Amino acid sequence: MLVEMYRDMLGKKSVIRELSEFATARGREIGYENVFDYSLGNPSVPVPQAFTDEMIRLLQETDSNVLHGYSPSLTIPSVRTAVAESLKKRFGIPYEMDHIFMTSGAAGAIAHAVRMIAKAGDEILTFAPFFPEYHPYVDHAGPVLKVVPAQTDTFQINFAAFEEMLSEKTAAVLINSPNNPSGVVYSEETLTRLAQILTARSREYSHPIYLITDEPYREIVFDGKAAPCPSKYYDNTIMCYSFSKSLSIPGERIGYVAVNPACEDAKTLIQMCGQISRGIGHNCPTSIVTQVMGEIPDATSDLSVYETNMNLLYDALTELGFTVNRPDGTFYIFPKALEDDAVAFCRKAMKYDLILVPADGFHAPGYFRIAFCTDTEKVKRSLPVFKKFVEAEYR
Ligand code: PLP
Repeated sequence: MLVEMYRDMLGKKSVIRELSEFATARGREIGYENVFDYSLGNPSVPVPQAFTDEMIRLLQETDSNVLHGYSPSLTIPSVRTAVAESLKKRFGIPYEMDHIFMTSGAAGAIAHAVRMIAKAGDEILTFAPFFPEYHPYVDHAGPVLKVVPAQTDTFQINFAAFEEMLSEKTAAVLINSPNNPSGVVYSEETLTRLAQILTARSREYSHPIYLITDEPYREIVFDGKAAPCPSKYYDNTIMCYSFSKSLSIPGERIGYVAVNPACEDAKTLIQMCGQISRGIGHNCPTSIVTQVMGEIPDATSDLSVYETNMNLLYDALTELGFTVNRPDGTFYIFPKALEDDAVAFCRKAMKYDLILVPADGFHAPGYFRIAFCTDTEKVKRSLPVFKKFVEAEYR
């Protein structure tokens, strides 16, 4: 018998993927350079040379059976140590090898984090707007994902709604800062208040409420700032990181879980990752890419293009009358649509070969997302098209 849950999902494919497929098909008709495809969060800046160099060096210099062999079940110790050292230096938190587990991107990290601390019957709260894949990441692991409505003026946390939704059943809270899709970075005030509430409620319910932090955009922050590190604010934090966006290597599937050393049972949680992996068939990310990251844990691509693109779009959209928060980071901008129905708005935009994503799936109806991980030249060429679209359809 086919499993209903997966068969039902076939009818609910990702809107983002469908839009991206439309853009590709349209590109075949009119030339992809004429399609302003702002759908997918696929990094556009080159992979750093250090990554390629390290890959080549490992291939040339390492014994092939060692390089391509099975990794230990808790992943490669030297790489875990390198990541721990890098985090310790950067955030002043005393991570050691035993707090780190390498995963297949942020998706793999969240799959482990959720299973460590939540089971069927538990709830995990997240905040709108959020990455729609959180539903399968959480719901397939057993617990239920509950969504706290957005604080639409700032896209920080709607604390009033959050406090109402917390309950005995809350096993964890899942946050994403810098945020896909809003581009917002949670402020120190937000993280401090979040930590205070979680501490008080953990005490009230006599069980820890864990904080799972999804941080694949940590390195893409604008105006020379850095994103506050959530683990510094709350002990029971499980950090989920990915190198996908910072090194433009989403296809390589590499990231990690880092459990705060001050977290209850920190080292046991990481040991449990090895057992969780067995159950979900994860069994370590590929060994060569893991080893590359052990050599260059701090490398990033040149990410400055994203800030250039953001400024161009932000200035043009505000001039056209859109309500939009200036993103603090990521490669997304999240304006309010010019009509209540963002799906209708994005459909109209398609007539102008502008591929925008309605935010209904992010739990923020009425908004849309622009993924500006594309060439600046193309962003510039899209600005008059936005103008033409707005003037023809909304003036
Ligand atoms: N979390 C967020 C917020 C994302 O935007 C993405 C990918 O776009 C992921 C997690 C998954 O990241 P990865 O490809 O590293 O698994």
